[in-house]
Amino acid sequence: MQQSNYKGRFAPSPTGPLHMGSLVAAMASYLDAKAHHGQWLVRIEDLDFDRNVKGIDQHILNSLQRCGMHWDGDVTWQSQRQHLYQDAMQTLDQHVYPCACSRKEIADSRLRMGEVASQIYPGTCRAGLAAGKTPRAWRLRLPQPHCNITFDDRYYGQQIQDITTEVGDFVLKRADGFWAYQLAVVVDDAAQGITHIVRGADLLDSTARQIYLQQVLDLPAISYLHVPVVNNEAGEKLSKQTGAMAFDRGDNDLLKDALLPAASFLELAIGDSVSSIDAFWKLALASWTIKMKL
Ligand SMILES: [Zn+2]
Repeated sequence: MQQSNYKGRFAPSPTGPLHMGSLVAAMASYLDAKAHHGQWLVRIEDLDFDRNVKGIDQHILNSLQRCGMHWDGDVTWQSQRQHLYQDAMQTLDQHVYPCACSRKEIADSRLRMGEVASQIYPGTCRAGLAAGKTPRAWRLRLPQPHCNITFDDRYYGQQIQDITTEVGDFVLKRADGFWAYQLAVVVDDAAQGITHIVRGADLLDSTARQIYLQQVLDLPAISYLHVPVVNNEAGEKLSKQTGAMAFDRGDNDLLKDALLPAASFLELAIGDSVSSIDAFWKLALASWTIKMKL
């Protein structure tokens, strides 16, 4: 088999067992890595210590293995890599400033500006903290008045976002002291040599921020593919918050209950006659290769 520099990853948060939505993202990233004769890594994104559920990381890893999805190298845990995020903050130095605003103050100032309350940061602390204010979070200073980021998504096509007007200076270290997702994911992808990111479309909106961070930190560019997210009957994205059920209940038939429905959601042509997990992956890989024109 030909050698490849492709390195992909699946990066679940240990806040609950994997549900069908996470399996679809895992399957797409796994198939894309295999179709490129590349490596597939697993990284546990456990930086939100308030939301982590004890022991769920092992449940997630067991579920992947029961599904026949075997990763390359060692699994990494973001909680053990915090020195890397601290180093990146030091590199960012002048690009980062302390913010004393509460969530409510940000929403209130947007209202005063005649706009609907939103998450867009109005830049209150960019020129320095008001007297008597204490830093809560640390934000990235974005170019003014615009910062257009464009990228080609392999599924959704060309994307453009003005992160200055559509997002605002975003948080790298949160008011609760935890590292923000955007910083950790960019630092880890670069440190692990990830070349291709395949994940759910719920993260499409984060991509421009991550690309900008890569540019400021002088890190290599990455190829992106976002796959549609699975919704429940109410049209909400499947998540622990919307009560999504674990697909791996210990003794159920993962081929019938999980793998075939996930492949069907990805519109892979597998057929109903497949009888083993090994046979499933051979057909899924062939189908992915054709579908993605690889
Ligand atoms: Zn502020």
